[in-house]
Amino acid sequence: MHEFDHESEELVRSVFDYALNRLRNEPPLDGPMSTEELQGLVGETITPEGIGGSEALRRYADHLAPASISADHPRYLAFVPGAPTKAASVFDLVLGSSSLCGSTWLDGAGMVFAENQALRWIADLADMPASAGGCFVTGGTMGNLSALVTARHEAIQKRVAAGQPRPDRWAVVASESTHSSVDSSARVMDVDVILAAVDGDRRLRGDAVAEAITGRPVGTEVFAVVATAGTTNLGIVDALDGIADTCAEAGVWLHVDGAYGGAAMAAPSVRERFDGIERCDSLVVDPHKWLFSPFDCAALIYRNPPVARAAHTQHAGYLDPIIDDTVWNPCDYAHVLTRRARGMPFWFSLAVHGTDAYRDAIEHTLEVARAARDLVAAAPHLELLVEPELSVVAFRRTGWDLADYQTWCDRLLAEGTALLTPTTVDETAAMRVCIVNPRTTVEDLAEVLVTLEPGA
Ligand SMILES: *Cc1c(COP(=O)(O)O)cnc(C)c1O
Repeated sequence: MHEFDHESEELVRSVFDYALNRLRNEPPLDGPMSTEELQGLVGETITPEGIGGSEALRRYADHLAPASISADHPRYLAFVPGAPTKAASVFDLVLGSSSLCGSTWLDGAGMVFAENQALRWIADLADMPASAGGCFVTGGTMGNLSALVTARHEAIQKRVAAGQPRPDRWAVVASESTHSSVDSSARVMDVDVILAAVDGDRRLRGDAVAEAITGRPVGTEVFAVVATAGTTNLGIVDALDGIADTCAEAGVWLHVDGAYGGAAMAAPSVRERFDGIERCDSLVVDPHKWLFSPFDCAALIYRNPPVARAAHTQHAGYLDPIIDDTVWNPCDYAHVLTRRARGMPFWFSLAVHGTDAYRDAIEHTLEVARAARDLVAAAPHLELLVEPELSVVAFRRTGWDLADYQTWCDRLLAEGTALLTPTTVDETAAMRVCIVNPRTTVEDLAEVLVTLEPGA
């Protein structure tokens, strides 16, 4: 099983062929099947003798892959799509073939060095100081959790230093548009979420944050504010500069969740929306969303990394001799120990194509989103819900309710046309499309929107 014999050679070649074809051709859309259908098609695959390489690959190619939706299909418009470059995707194969662990400098110095260069590019987009750094984690969810754990640790340390007791409850201030992973992180940490009101533009502002902090329940202390740089539902960038003022005055950690939208800092046409982001204490940007990296990859960056080290470093007899602060150990900066160097496909692609190509690709998706906005605005049966700030376009179809949207989405998927899913805006059903794939065209969107015309 571990020898590289003739059989392994054949297996490797057939897997490479499969990968080459997948990368060369238009991605299929495909769609889910029931467990029963899959059981009928795939049968048992885990057997004492093994079913062999060609058979396992055949069942994958014939049945398992087609029951899984390709997020890089140009009309995958739901949630936040993923559209990795070929360079990034294929480098994932290299990473997977190499058994390299990205936890520590000892294990993975070369990779950690490269990952840090890629992190630095994101930190530079945000104008964070030279001291900034962090690591790549699985996603925005893990990035938000790790950042908030660091923020609370810091708040505890400050209290200890000041000789103050711990409060009854810790809380984080966020808005109703904050991503669900912040609420999930708060549950993991057993802390409360205090919701601050958004303004008429659905934007969180410094004064609302200040009110939320002042209005906290007696016995509760706020240890962090989460501002969103590109909300998932509508692509709204919170008023970061004003929020940073409030955080500075209150002495509270500012975490900026740019999991989806942070990539747009690379686009000059919208960069000013992010003004103030340079003042954050921590930042999350997901390369697997809008920076053309395969799943799963999120950049987590701290202004002052030693604070994160104090919160996250794990101690054990076998770790302590190699984990110290003279070298960069990514596992010190998040809730993680063993770690895939998941920033490497992103690094490779960034190195291959250059940052100008990234800027242009992101600008291109923004232009397609603006054109989609115009299509919606021009259609008498459609209502544009907000002026898009980034690449999310949200709208309603006159006279439709949630069931109508769902039926329409189901039909588009069944036909293999597109993946869309309904959302909720102001407690009422709506549709949104999110464009991060440079291969999504205005024609793709027109093709989808035309099916909303009365009588279509
Ligand atoms: C997607 C998203 C997350 C969660 O990121 P995952 O990579 O899915 O874990 C967090 N925040 C925002 C704003 C997001 O769009």
